[in-house]
Amino acid sequence: MSQQQHTILVVEDETSIATFVAAYLRNAGYGVRTASTAQNALVELASEPPALIVLDLNLPDGDGVELCRRIRKASDVPILMLTARDEDVDKIIGLEVGADDYMTKPFNPRELVARVKSVLRRAAPERRRGESEELRHGDLAINSGKREVYVGDEEIRLAPKEFELLWELLDHRGIVLTRDQLLERVWGYTFAGDTRTVDVHVRQIRRKLGDASPIVTVWGVGYKVASDRTPAPTA
Ligand code: CA
Repeated sequence: MSQQQHTILVVEDETSIATFVAAYLRNAGYGVRTASTAQNALVELASEPPALIVLDLNLPDGDGVELCRRIRKASDVPILMLTARDEDVDKIIGLEVGADDYMTKPFNPRELVARVKSVLRRAAPERRRGESEELRHGDLAINSGKREVYVGDEEIRLAPKEFELLWELLDHRGIVLTRDQLLERVWGYTFAGDTRTVDVHVRQIRRKLGDASPIVTVWGVGYKVASDRTPAPTA
C-alpha cells in the first residue's frame, strides 16, 4: 500500500471501547495512538498532531467539550466526538464547540471507520469550488471562497457543516434534496444512515439565520430552498 498512513488519536477512558475502536481503525489501515485522559490527549497533541481525533465526551479529568474547544483554538484538526447522550448533539456540532461529526454510543465500529474516512476526505484541501462564488437569496449572501454568510450587513458565523449544507441547498434552489442526498453530498457517507444529523444542522442554521433562513421543510422527504426569493434584476 503506497497510501500515506494517517494517524488517528483516540481519546477514550473506557479501555474496552478504546481497544475496540483502535483495532477497527488499524484494520482499516490507520495508525492509532490512544489517550485515556484530557491531559494525556493534550500531551499527545503537542508531541505530534494526528490527522483526526476521536474524542469521548466524558473523560475522567474533564469534559470532552471543553477539550474540543481548547483544541479548536489552536488547530483545525478534524474531530469526531463520541457521546453517550443524544441531547448533547446540538452543542457538540455547533460552532461553539466545532466538532466535525459525532457518534452516539453504542455505535457500529464499521460506521465509525466510514465516518473517519469521510471526515478525512472532507478535510483534504480538494474542496475548492470556483474560487469565490457567491449565492444570494433575499437578504442572505453566502460566499464559498471566503466561507462567509451575511444577512444584510450582519455576518453570521456558521459551523463548517452548516455552511456546506446551506450552500448545497442554495445551490439547488427549487429542488428537494432528501436527507440521504444531503448526508451524501455534505458528509460523504456512502451508506444511508443517521439522517438526524441533517435535521440537527438545519435546526442550527435556522436558529442562526432567524427570519432570513431560506430552508423549507418538505415533510417526510427532505429540505429545499424555494426558488422565488432571489431579488429581481432591476430592469
Ligand atoms: Ca468516557
